[in-house]
Amino acid sequence: MKIRVPIAAMNGYVPGEQPADLSSWIKLNTNENPYPPSPKCAEVLRSLDTAQLRLYPNPTADLLRKTIAERFRVSMDQVVTGNGSDDILNLAVRVFCDRDNAMAVATPSYSLYPALAQIQETSCRAIRLNADFSLPADFVAQLEGTNLLMIPSPNAPTGLPFPLEALRKICCCYSGAVLVDEAYADFSDGNAIDLLREFPNVIISRTFSKSYALAGLRVGFAIASPAVIAEFMKVKDSYNLGLIPLLMAVAAMSDETYLQKTVALIRGERDRLSAALTALGYQVIPSEANFIFASPPDRDGLRVYEALKQRKILIRYFKGDVTGQYVRITIGTPEQMTVLIEALRSL
Ligand SMILES: *Cc1c(COP(=O)(O)O)cnc(C)c1O
Repeated sequence: MKIRVPIAAMNGYVPGEQPADLSSWIKLNTNENPYPPSPKCAEVLRSLDTAQLRLYPNPTADLLRKTIAERFRVSMDQVVTGNGSDDILNLAVRVFCDRDNAMAVATPSYSLYPALAQIQETSCRAIRLNADFSLPADFVAQLEGTNLLMIPSPNAPTGLPFPLEALRKICCCYSGAVLVDEAYADFSDGNAIDLLREFPNVIISRTFSKSYALAGLRVGFAIASPAVIAEFMKVKDSYNLGLIPLLMAVAAMSDETYLQKTVALIRGERDRLSAALTALGYQVIPSEANFIFASPPDRDGLRVYEALKQRKILIRYFKGDVTGQYVRITIGTPEQMTVLIEALRSL
């Protein structure tokens, strides 16, 4: 047998560590929500008739797509759901990219994107952000010849949103598709949803993993023009969303009050951690996500990561010339943040 060359040559994406003995760690490394999902999700499980699981789920997840369409004031044929938004990102690569149609990403951003390109045998053009993580002035020009831009806003790992005007300019001037990965948009003051009404080439992806505290459930979705969604529908697995994830996601989205309450708590702790880091001499990137990207006074991210790990606090370190100067810390509960801040003071 032969293994396809790009697969044999790749290392594979490495997700953040998930320690087995969770109770002994303060886990601030994968941007999970420190609060449980809405109690309405538990109700779904309690009232579930397991005999229903005998049947295949609705292949187009209509109930969830209807809920999402109402929430964002779009039509149902503008929505596709998936097994986490990572599934959605993969669909986009498969719809828009091949050997002749490359993908483009900003650097630094989500490190999964290049791995998805590699699997699809499409090249991935990495366009460097400015030193302050803003878009370079010639960003659109650098996209020339590619067919899909994947860009998170707020960006990961920086937490910085890109200005709507900058995204509008990209959608307007670029001939390819623009996937705005809004995994963290619920923690931000803005989003790019308005662009859907203006451009046929914009795709917004969202997830239930972060703000809805359902990372273990695996539900994500994209909103785009009906023409683009129709192509996504052809490419997706026939049953890419199980019945239980579908029902729980619908329940979570129906509890807007709970979402707002937990998001507000996280934003409050984000402000507190940001102030504490600044006081300790860290350079803090102003985050609109549920994490903070900050650089210690000696610019040695690895040292901070390792010292905290010894104290059973897990944060994220990304090696690299630029990213290696920083650490990324997920916002936890007030109690977790107090322990973290004490540990950082003692380093
Ligand atoms: C966490 C994250 C996602 C996706 O998560 P899923 O759990 O697959 O929905 C997508 N994009 C970015 C930038 C993320 O940080």
